[in-house]
Amino acid sequence: MTGISADPYWWQAAPPQDFHIEHWPERTDVVIIGGGYTGFGAAIPLARAGLDVVVLERDQIGAGASTRNGGITSGNLRLSFDDLIKKFGAEKATAFYQEAKAARADLAQFITSEKIDCDLQQCGRMVGALRSESLDSMKRDAERLTKLLDIEATVYDRASLPDYIDTSRYCGGMMRDDIGGIHPAKLLAGMCQIARQASVKIVTQTKVIAVSQPNTSSPTPEFRIETSRGIIRAGHVISATNAYTDAGQPWLRRRLVPVISEMIATEELGENMVRSLMPGLNMYGEALQLGHYYRPSPDGKRILLGGRRMSPNPAMARKRLVRGLTSIFPQLADITITNHWFGFVAFPFDQLPKLAVHDGVIYPSGYCGSGTVWARWLGQKAAHMVLADLDENAFQGSAFQGIPFRTMPFYSGDPWFLPLAMGLYAIQDKFKTTSK
Ligand SMILES: Cc1cc2nc3c(=O)[nH]c(=O)nc-3n(C[C@H](O)[C@H](O)[C@H](O)COP(=O)(O)OP(=O)(O)OC[C@H]3O[C@@H](n4cnc5c(N)ncnc54)[C@H](O)[C@@H]3O)c2cc1C
Repeated sequence: MTGISADPYWWQAAPPQDFHIEHWPERTDVVIIGGGYTGFGAAIPLARAGLDVVVLERDQIGAGASTRNGGITSGNLRLSFDDLIKKFGAEKATAFYQEAKAARADLAQFITSEKIDCDLQQCGRMVGALRSESLDSMKRDAERLTKLLDIEATVYDRASLPDYIDTSRYCGGMMRDDIGGIHPAKLLAGMCQIARQASVKIVTQTKVIAVSQPNTSSPTPEFRIETSRGIIRAGHVISATNAYTDAGQPWLRRRLVPVISEMIATEELGENMVRSLMPGLNMYGEALQLGHYYRPSPDGKRILLGGRRMSPNPAMARKRLVRGLTSIFPQLADITITNHWFGFVAFPFDQLPKLAVHDGVIYPSGYCGSGTVWARWLGQKAAHMVLADLDENAFQGSAFQGIPFRTMPFYSGDPWFLPLAMGLYAIQDKFKTTSK
């Protein structure tokens, strides 16, 4: 026994919840599979437009990644602007980044206008550079962000870092004002409450086993959704299961690589200690493939740090995170860790989020570990696609629709190749940390 809780720190304030309904509905307008940000991002606008909506959740609301994440509202894209230009051309590359900006702003606006108590902090994010070459590419990125998207981004050298963070690990970093933080579990609880107020029916402990296509020769074609509780028919289906997709949705499962991301929370260090280490009280990241992301807890008393899991052994995995923490803040060598938890994030093979439609089912998915912004946004876009049946202006398009959503031969959802890919990333990072 280590005395370290495997529950997310966030669950202390907003634990997962169960919801039931008295009568199992035989049919509905829209079935949403999965009760995370994507699911509720879709459910709220649909119900507010007057549709009957059922959210089916295999476990509890909050069992998935939406209450396990770092709460950093990055709306990040894994592919660099240059990579996107090479693949799609400058216009489309700009459209991806513009949509990220719109999605970030929309999340903040949604939280504020709906008065969701989820510790929204528009505090900015600092990404630390471990060598001067990274600083050069940050300068190019910052210029582009400012010029093309009017996003405030500033690159600092080592001398200016102490305004933001007390560490000697970085030789500088980039600060972006448009990224902030939230309490992720409180956000999900708030979205769930709004959905219930809008009359969304939420049924937990209900696994979707299979989705069958509508009979198109019928005058009212409907999907047939088989669940662990019974059959339900629906005019539309939105899949919001993302990294937690199981064998009941083989098409999606073959297209997403589930990757473990995990976090630790320190004991209470006190506001003064946290502020002395993180004077900017910002969100933080590192310019590495497998870099850590970290932040103060919303009450400013702890530090939470996360990264990708490299070892199947939880104790070893935790050691790696603690090493990460102390490589940034050696002052924390003797502190106690209170929580160590993990969850899954979903990577499409091309590392771009998707708003895909296959056999009539809508699949917003594949946020590559940045779904705090993307999940709600693309869930909402999926809702707008459905609403376009009633009002053709409801869906204004998305840069993420119509992108080929590829799988690999012989891949069925079990990423046997992941240790290899992680190993390669680790080698790339070694070069970035040693050849200063
Ligand atoms: C440790 C960690 C740290 C992260 N940090 C950040 C961060 O700082 N910033 C950021 O932007 N993103 C972060 N992310 C990613 C972010 O949390 C996710 O991208 C986002 O929450 C995805 O939301 P979702 O609604 O699509 O999926 P989820 O919240 O995972 O919900 C999917 C739901 O589908 C349900 N489900 C699955 N199969 C079925 C079925 N057959 N029937 C019914 N229901 C089913 C699952 O039980 C689950 O509840 C992090 C993720 C993790 C794990």
